[in-house]
Amino acid sequence: MSEPVRTDPVRTDPAAAPARRLPTLRGQLSLWLGGLALAILTLVGGYLGNVATDELFTTQQAAVRATAQSAAELLAVQLRDRERQIELLSTTPHLVDGPLDSPRVRESLDRRQALHDEFAWLGVVAPDGTVMQGTGGMLTGRSVAQRDWFMGGRERVFVGDVHEAKLLATMLPALPNGEPTRFIDFAAPIRSADGRLMGVVGSHAHWRWVTGLVESVVRRQSPGSRIDAMILDREGRVLYPESMKLAQAKGGAVLPALVGQGHYDGELVFGDGRAYLTSEAQLPERTRAALGWRIVARQPLDQAMRPVRALARELVLLGVLAAAALTLAALLLARRISKPVEQLARIAARIETERRVPDFPVQPAVRELDGLSRAMQSMAQALLRSEQDLQRANATLESQVQQRTAELQAANAQLEHLATRDPLTGLHNRRSLDARLIEAHALDRRYGRQNGRVHGLLLVDVDHFKRINDTHGHPAGDAVLSQLGQLLLASVRVSDVAARFGGEEFAVLLPELAGPLDAVMAAEKIRTAVAAATFPGVGKLTVSIGVSLASPDDEQLGPLIARADAALYEAKRGGRNAVVLKDVGDAVA
Ligand code: GH3
Ligand code: MG
Ligand code: MG
Repeated sequence: MSEPVRTDPVRTDPAAAPARRLPTLRGQLSLWLGGLALAILTLVGGYLGNVATDELFTTQQAAVRATAQSAAELLAVQLRDRERQIELLSTTPHLVDGPLDSPRVRESLDRRQALHDEFAWLGVVAPDGTVMQGTGGMLTGRSVAQRDWFMGGRERVFVGDVHEAKLLATMLPALPNGEPTRFIDFAAPIRSADGRLMGVVGSHAHWRWVTGLVESVVRRQSPGSRIDAMILDREGRVLYPESMKLAQAKGGAVLPALVGQGHYDGELVFGDGRAYLTSEAQLPERTRAALGWRIVARQPLDQAMRPVRALARELVLLGVLAAAALTLAALLLARRISKPVEQLARIAARIETERRVPDFPVQPAVRELDGLSRAMQSMAQALLRSEQDLQRANATLESQVQQRTAELQAANAQLEHLATRDPLTGLHNRRSLDARLIEAHALDRRYGRQNGRVHGLLLVDVDHFKRINDTHGHPAGDAVLSQLGQLLLASVRVSDVAARFGGEEFAVLLPELAGPLDAVMAAEKIRTAVAAATFPGVGKLTVSIGVSLASPDDEQLGPLIARADAALYEAKRGGRNAVVLKDVGDAVA
């Protein structure tokens, strides 16, 4: 039995390592999703960081600028206010009407000083420069004729730049930090109704009042911002703070060249080698014309950058955390997608080896994979079903082929039998006998001469058969012929060929005869067997037999048959129930 035809799928052994190690779906998904998330985060984070940094930087710069401008404004307003006070004082009636040394004038000066403690001294001076009265009785009788404020105050309202105290220095208490006492001066002319100069009212305001104003603005800034401010004079020299003023006085390059011109706004490196966010503001309007001061506010750049750096740190930390979270999410997502794919691969391998569809334990995360899983399941089922069908069909076909072959062989055998046998007697028919005679003739011609063996032919004819037909009928004749066939078969050797030669005549081919005697003996055996037999309903019968032997000289079958026929004829003529041999040498009648 041959193997059933099988549709052999391409064998894939999942355990066998692939020729080239391919990356896993999970790894690829994680890598790409994580990388993409990181790239987007970096881009967005970088952009936002930049925007925020610019914003913060601008805010810091604005704070510095606001400090400078506020200080300038405040200073301008306050200076203007004091200027107005002195101007007003110069027009009070008891000063205009005099005399300047009256107690009422002194009272008015004291009251004003009590109201404004920034004034170290207020006093009235006669047109010749002699101090008529002063707060606290100071300087009375002394001459200030050479002082700028007196000379300026004689003409118009005067505001004088900062200077060290001269006469008053010894009269006022010393400053706690050892700084020399400094003043700025306000003065105004006292004029009578007709415009005559009656004297000058003057005042010294403490320099530390001025610096205190600037400090108050700086203090309003957020603590820790470390913004500081400077006051510069018209020529850009430092008036405040004291430390820078001293350093500059010693010839140090305290200020950058760009500072001092009244309008700088940006980053600068100062004399201490450090970079600062710097903003410079001028005192506005008349006050500026009088003093020409500038306020410079600055903040160390590293201090200004501190919130920027903090923001950058926060952004980086946030970015790293977000990237980690996104990568984790990508990993989980990749796992969710790749797991059912791996399960499907394992199931496919199992289907191949086990030749059955196992349970599908796949829980796909996405619709496409669910569809794939279902499609695979039904495909596997359909494939296995058709494979089984094919095997069944193969097996059926096999047995059908076997059955048909057997039937065909049987039919062939039957056909062969029918073709070679006589239907009535079951003996060989004439055609079969002829074929055997030709075969024996050919064999004898090839080997007969060597072993001395020849074949012989008997022709057996029933004596007076016509009578049997006539007496008992044709069917009885047939029965006799059939019984004669069996008798003939029983009387010859297996290797002999008994045949119905025609009508009531039989023939026997005797192969491999040692000589004529063998043939005659075989004929005699037949003749006596027939004579001894009884044929039911008919009785006794006899046969006549003609015998001939093949000759090496016989070219064809004809002579052998003719000789046997002649011998038979002789046996009939001789009285029947006889055997006659007709040899080669004998004449054939
Ligand atoms: P002989 O002794 O001279 O041979 O006399 P015979 O009567 O046998 O003469 P012959 O051989 O001439 O006659 C043969 C007869 O055999 C003729 C025919 O009717 C009869 N016969 C031939 N074939 C068959 C057959 O198949 N069945 C039957 N029943 N009769 C047959
Ligand atoms: Mg006859
Ligand atoms: Mg006859």
